[in-house]
Amino acid sequence: IKQNDEPEKMPPPSTVKGRRKSVAPVELNKGNKRLSCVVKPPDMQTKRGKFLEGSRPNQKFFEMIQDFRATLEITPLSTTETIEPQRICVCVRKRPFNKQEINKKEIDVVSVPGKGALLVHEPKHKVDLTKYLDNQVFHFDYSFDETATNELVYKFTAKPLVQSIFEGGMATCFAYGQTGSGKTHTMGGDFTGKQQNSAKGIYALAAQDVFAYLHHRRYANLDLSAYVSFFEIYNGKVYDLLHKKAKLRVLEDERQQVQVVGLEEVYVTSAEEVIKMIQIGSSCRTSGQTSANANSSRSHAILQIVLRRNDRATTLHGKFSLIDLAGNERGTDVSSNDRSTLVETAEINRSLLALKECIRSLGKNSDHIPFRMSTLTKVLRDSFIGEKSRTCMIAMVSPGMTSCEYTMNTLRYADRVKELNGNSKASE
Ligand code: ADP
Ligand code: MG
Repeated sequence: IKQNDEPEKMPPPSTVKGRRKSVAPVELNKGNKRLSCVVKPPDMQTKRGKFLEGSRPNQKFFEMIQDFRATLEITPLSTTETIEPQRICVCVRKRPFNKQEINKKEIDVVSVPGKGALLVHEPKHKVDLTKYLDNQVFHFDYSFDETATNELVYKFTAKPLVQSIFEGGMATCFAYGQTGSGKTHTMGGDFTGKQQNSAKGIYALAAQDVFAYLHHRRYANLDLSAYVSFFEIYNGKVYDLLHKKAKLRVLEDERQQVQVVGLEEVYVTSAEEVIKMIQIGSSCRTSGQTSANANSSRSHAILQIVLRRNDRATTLHGKFSLIDLAGNERGTDVSSNDRSTLVETAEINRSLLALKECIRSLGKNSDHIPFRMSTLTKVLRDSFIGEKSRTCMIAMVSPGMTSCEYTMNTLRYADRVKELNGNSKASE
């Protein structure tokens, strides 16, 4: 794998300063004149709106966003671009609208101009009820728009990490975001109807590359074998998805080594075998769930591809953990304010907070990793330590105006993960 420096692709942190502030188009797109984002009084308006087929509930905002977009310079991601592997990589992916959203004429409030940038056009009202857009820009390592395929996302996120596990490292790749934002689609694969095409997800794409490396002569003398495990963390408890959701215990020994006792580790010899395991595990994960209270959105699913030496002790060589995280939406669902849901929500919030802190300490190369805060970070503990640990987070966002608040929460979280990253040159 060729990896060249491409400094211009990664804005230094200094340019990222104040990224959560509202921006005018000029700041993003130098040379263009500043556009007013406030609605003009009726007599000054163009006739355009009147002739558009059926106006939508928030026609004004729709037009304002359209006007803003017209000023954006779009730089699409090039597939030939070389990728510099980093210790921590944070990306964002916007999913396309689904049929229902199109029928409801949902308004797309997210723009992806490229070069890692993503904008949210947050519709707001002034005190005198004038409508205006609060345009906020975020910068990540890469930003993927609604046309990006799983293959493209994989290429820039998990793929660069595969090599590191052959070099004795630990790698993690997280899908983070609100329920319905595309985490399972990205990790597990495309769905057509109810059928999941696991071969097109990041799990399977990573497995393919692992076997390509395993058979490569460069790594042949390491004499390695691959194994998979697949488990779920729900309410702080671990369930084996390759063993009928058997409940497993997490133990920590005196040397702080964390073990999931009895976790099934299946020996695999091809990507097809891994895909079979993904299918078994995924159906095990979702079985017996009603869509109204799908707890797959309330649990973290972790697929691990483990490399072991073919010695008597089958010594661990490297490990790739691919995680489809629980939905990050807060317990704002007022219809379900029962105790168990509150406990569930608190547990999810705690684990996502712990995760953020653990990644940040990895970035700072800190000795103190607050992994004990949650089961999720406990079982991933060895992935947050050592020179050779690498991580990638893909923040998923929904495009619609109705998801705006969740989208902002997701982006702020992803922003914090990367902040003070040990990789980056000091900006202040
Ligand atoms: P999550 O796991 O975050 O709750 P899903 O992956 O289940 O979300 O996605 C919600 C719906 O949106 C699914 O029907 C999925 O197929 C669809 N979807 C998500 N991302 C994309 C995408 N990039 N392209 C097409 N459809 C997508
Ligand atoms: Mg899901």
